[in-house]
Amino acid sequence: MFKRIASLVLVVTILNTLPFIFLAALRGDVNGDDKVDIQDILALRDYIFNGNAPPEADVNGDGKVDIQDILAVRDIIFGISINEDGALIITVLDVGQGDSIFIVLPSRETLLIDAGESRYADGIIKHIKDAGFTTLNYVVATHPHADHIGGMAKVVEAFDVKNIYMPNVSHTTVSFEKLLDAIDAKDLTIKTAKARNVLLSNDYIQIEFIAPISDEYKNLNNYSAVLLITFNNKRFLLMGDAEVESEAEILQNYSDIKADWIKIGHHGSVTATSDDFINAVNPSFAAICVGKGNNYKHPSELILERLANLNCGVWRTDENGAVTFQSDGYTITVVK
Ligand SMILES: [Zn+2]
Repeated sequence: MFKRIASLVLVVTILNTLPFIFLAALRGDVNGDDKVDIQDILALRDYIFNGNAPPEADVNGDGKVDIQDILAVRDIIFGISINEDGALIITVLDVGQGDSIFIVLPSRETLLIDAGESRYADGIIKHIKDAGFTTLNYVVATHPHADHIGGMAKVVEAFDVKNIYMPNVSHTTVSFEKLLDAIDAKDLTIKTAKARNVLLSNDYIQIEFIAPISDEYKNLNNYSAVLLITFNNKRFLLMGDAEVESEAEILQNYSDIKADWIKIGHHGSVTATSDDFINAVNPSFAAICVGKGNNYKHPSELILERLANLNCGVWRTDENGAVTFQSDGYTITVVK
């Protein structure tokens, strides 16, 4: 009997809110009354318990409605962050079958990881300049494959680069030689991307390399610089093209690699994102840098399945284009 009344109340509640929900434009205005307040938190609580939430209830945009959405509404109510200042903003750029990730740190310093094939350089430069930046405080070339460093020489030439990190491995390709020339011309010294090297550390944000761990690998992909960003209580993992061999080393060397957000390794190939590894990371958000109709058939269905099993939201550059994620260190929001 009680159940019946409860579900009747629920139906009435849903019917009452339905017309408003679809009009809701304010982020966090879950109940559609044109303001963001404690009532929206109560509405979210109801959705969490009845498991029947409309898309608007997913305030932080991670594909599920849970306590994180309540925290997101709290932050909106109290004006904590999710404005430009003080947020970590990660844009996974669309560079076809390749990687380029532009990050604005809470201090407004900038970090660029990879720069796609050479033909994408102009687009990357434009994106960063349009965002208002002329300095790249940190540049990471994860490994010397052309789909990661092809556009890097031009990018280095276009900005005031403060620090550049690369793993200790060379490659006899034109794009690699060009990058070294560009670095030389700017009188920059290459810093080594290697596990345990710290890129940045202060009270609220730490950026550390957790791979490569070994000195030598057969496969160039496994030299990939892997970055772990810890911002308040959220963690972000950027895998480059690190494959299962590197993942196994990370698991052996780091007892806790749980992260909320991950840039999936090697474009979603089966040669990366092992079951053991992705289960240990257990992310809520995954970004895959992958080209539409690529010859490698990336991303692999198996990898997508592994992510789905973890209830992890997936954003793919071949389907979503460039995607921006924002975090205040307590919640993560998909901006686009
Ligand atoms: Zn690659």
